Amino acid sequence: MACILRASHPAKAHLRRIAVPNTRLALPMTLPQLSASRTSNNGYRNLSTTPTLHTEIFHDIPPLRSLRRSLLLSNRTVGLVPTMGALHSGHLSLVRLAASENTDVFVTIYVNPTQFGLTEDLASYPKTWEADMRMLQDLDRELASEGAGRVSAVFAPSTKTMYPTLPPDSSIPGAGSFVEMRPLGQLLEGASRPVFFRGVATVCMKLFNICTPDRVYFGQKDIQQTVIIKRLVKDFHLDTEVRIGATAREPDGLALSSRNVYLGERRRSAGIVLYQALRKAEAQYNAGNRKRGDILWPANDHTDKTHMAQDALEPSQRARFEVDYLSLADPETMEELDEVDETRGAILSGAVKMLPVEEPRAGEELGVGDGQIPVRLIDNIVLNPGS
Ligand code: AMP
Repeated sequence: MACILRASHPAKAHLRRIAVPNTRLALPMTLPQLSASRTSNNGYRNLSTTPTLHTEIFHDIPPLRSLRRSLLLSNRTVGLVPTMGALHSGHLSLVRLAASENTDVFVTIYVNPTQFGLTEDLASYPKTWEADMRMLQDLDRELASEGAGRVSAVFAPSTKTMYPTLPPDSSIPGAGSFVEMRPLGQLLEGASRPVFFRGVATVCMKLFNICTPDRVYFGQKDIQQTVIIKRLVKDFHLDTEVRIGATAREPDGLALSSRNVYLGERRRSAGIVLYQALRKAEAQYNAGNRKRGDILWPANDHTDKTHMAQDALEPSQRARFEVDYLSLADPETMEELDEVDETRGAILSGAVKMLPVEEPRAGEELGVGDGQIPVRLIDNIVLNPGS
């Protein structure tokens, strides 16, 4: 069943979904949008001169497919932005990118259980539906006033909808229908989270089949995921284009992540260690070094020294962490490199686990979960070919 975003708000009770026959856009839309409809300079009907409610929420597949079909028949293009919700400006930057390249953007919000291991944080993954909808609505208003593509659909399915045959299984080997890329999905993040990429590839295959997007949008923040998705599209001959958006960061460089709400101040300031380490390695590459040891040593040195400095502090002051990996890998296989081939470039990436706060201080800002939820931070820098 589809509904207009926030149409249940009393002040919006006059908004109704209506069918518009004999127009290029035989789509549900709101009355104010219809009255203001015009043709924009990027060649498709823009629904509004003054921003109004536009985005529809879908929980089921058939009405979403019917919207998709009508968009196709109207020569409109769909950019898909898959997310797990708890939206931040990194997600919104992907929506913006999608809106700059497509007439219509579909955002999916689904916390996919099969990518969480049995011991991982599925239950505690942040869920902020109301705030997410407000952010998307505000962004859609901006997009409307800019004449860009619009956020036409939010798809938020249930797990029964996404996994119709069996209850989803996160165990190994696991019962169910899965997509796997080996060994790519078992390296780096996959080594630490064995079912992660199986779950990601499987849910993305489902979402791509449901939405049949012209383009799909993923963040560089999760770089191995982008490599997996490109492989998925290539190996299964999916008719879509993979587009990658830059990593959105805090002013000090920390990559935005839905999980950062768990950090609290103390772990937040120590968590910058990963990005700092990657920047030090990048500087080595930019200075002309190509060998693994030469590129990675300052990064390892930085994490070692930061580690020691934290350990030397009192338990009430320190934020302890474990480095999972610092990697210099091939951009297509994610295999570790002894030396960077300038014609291919490389991916510098890393993961650190911020451990629970040991002794909270009175009045300390500890984040969601009172500083007791371990937080895995990942980040990366692409070393471009020939730079
Ligand atoms: P998630 O909701 O964490 O599954 O992320 C949904 C999409 O947003 C993925 O393609 C992520 O790579 C992307 N994303 C997450 N964080 C950022 C960020 N800081 N900058 C850009 N894209 C991001």
